[in-house]
Amino acid sequence: MLSLEIPQASSEAKLTPKNRLLLVEDEDLIRDMIVVALEEEGYEVHTAIDGRSALNLLQSAEGASSEYTPDLIILDLMLPEINGLDICRLLRYQGNITPILTISAKASETDRVLGLEVGADDYLTKPFSMRELIARCRALLRRQRYSSLSHTSVQKFRDISLYPQECRVIVRGEEVNLSPKEFRLLELFMSYPRRVWSREQLIEQVWGPDFLGDTKTVDVHIRWLREKLEEDPSQPQYLITVRGFGYRFG
Ligand code: CA
Repeated sequence: MLSLEIPQASSEAKLTPKNRLLLVEDEDLIRDMIVVALEEEGYEVHTAIDGRSALNLLQSAEGASSEYTPDLIILDLMLPEINGLDICRLLRYQGNITPILTISAKASETDRVLGLEVGADDYLTKPFSMRELIARCRALLRRQRYSSLSHTSVQKFRDISLYPQECRVIVRGEEVNLSPKEFRLLELFMSYPRRVWSREQLIEQVWGPDFLGDTKTVDVHIRWLREKLEEDPSQPQYLITVRGFGYRFG
């Protein structure tokens, strides 16, 4: 049966206030290009031309009522004064959890890996297209939105209880073994009961934007989850197929 309930999220994007992005880049030409592209996408962009001014901007704000807290930081790694890796390391050390996308002219594996190791969330290697940059920004902002809402306490829905911190799931009084992906999928579903998810959205949330497989992966995992959660997997009561859209929970 086709449910025509409108998922909340469809109107959500338009209602959210502008995302604030901080761009730290010392090369004028690249900085200007990125600013134009991001502003065209509707983002509010602040810029810093070196590491020190970026840190000043982020740190002077601490505790102040007019604090500047970006939703995402785009950080060039090769910067005068303080380099991008050190900024990243310092922000994470200070407990700043703003998503960071690093950009770097260096194609070297080491830099990218180092960036991720010191707490960056994603990276792009120059030259990159503005479309690619925007896609990465969107993905990071979305990921953050959902993870900031994700629960740390037990979630219950009818006969299913999920314990996020223990990675345990109890169904009708019995513990079931889920793979990490199945667990993450169920956790996402339970965080948003009745919300309809497309396969692409589920891939992005559970497998990440870099996943290269196809969306059938989602169907396979849903089938496995149904076998573990549903009393009758052929008549699912929890993981419901919404024809033409994707899946919803409950
Ligand atoms: Ca640079």
